Amino acid sequence: MAWFKREKKSIEHPVPPNERTVKTEGLWEKCASCHTIVWKKDLEANAYVCPKCQHHFRVGSKKRLELLLDGRWIEHDAQLASSDPLHFTDTRPYATRLRKAHRDLGMADAVVTAEGLLNGRPVICCAMEFGFIAGTMGAVVGEKVTRAIEMAIERRVPLVIVSCSGGARMMEGTISLLQLAKVSAALARLDEARLPFISVLTDPTTGGVTASYAMLGDLNIGEPGALIGFAGARVIEQTIGQKLPAGFQRSEFLLQHGFLDAVVHRKDMKAYISSALDFFLA
Ligand SMILES: [Zn+2]
Repeated sequence: MAWFKREKKSIEHPVPPNERTVKTEGLWEKCASCHTIVWKKDLEANAYVCPKCQHHFRVGSKKRLELLLDGRWIEHDAQLASSDPLHFTDTRPYATRLRKAHRDLGMADAVVTAEGLLNGRPVICCAMEFGFIAGTMGAVVGEKVTRAIEMAIERRVPLVIVSCSGGARMMEGTISLLQLAKVSAALARLDEARLPFISVLTDPTTGGVTASYAMLGDLNIGEPGALIGFAGARVIEQTIGQKLPAGFQRSEFLLQHGFLDAVVHRKDMKAYISSALDFFLA
């Protein structure tokens, strides 16, 4: 008999961290805008829009595709992953960040490119994942989006991209910046092929993504209240030495100033895109 030493081995397969929380936790969600506590099931049934104030919660890429496409879709290039070309390290090595994001989300990078039906019409649809290193665009996102555009050209179907991104992925330096040109060039070929591209900008769409494909749609549609911009408001204020107006860089402000073509409620988005495509392809 041992008083101070463990005779038996400790549990060999401890409970994984995601199962350690008590199951009743996380049934409620607090709205960031009106602070109402909303039951998660209600929120889910309401397309992740606050039933009280219509605040649009951020949704993941898979959920986004569920909201836009009919039933199943085929994902492409899911295995493409960054090679960490610069062997970059900031507070943590980039490779560690990639591994963690991969483990948490089960995705190899920050975009899902899919082929599916939108109200019965074949489309290529890309949805960005903010949870994956702030939805930043590195070589993989650039390559996947470019391949999606090329597939749209090859199959002669329209393209829809839902952006949700902090911009270019700084851990890939210039290589991430090159993606702006690459994707834009591919979109020019889509335009020459006379195929429509609908860009949906959700909260937030910033930096290099705004500066490339997010603003190159034949229609640029924002979700209500989404933060859309290139540089951050504070940087702009410091540069121009002026206070910025209220609602600056929100979709409604951008619509007023001609940067967006429409601001559409999430629940109406699918029908809106569908009728826009009817118009473009008539
Ligand atoms: Zn609310």
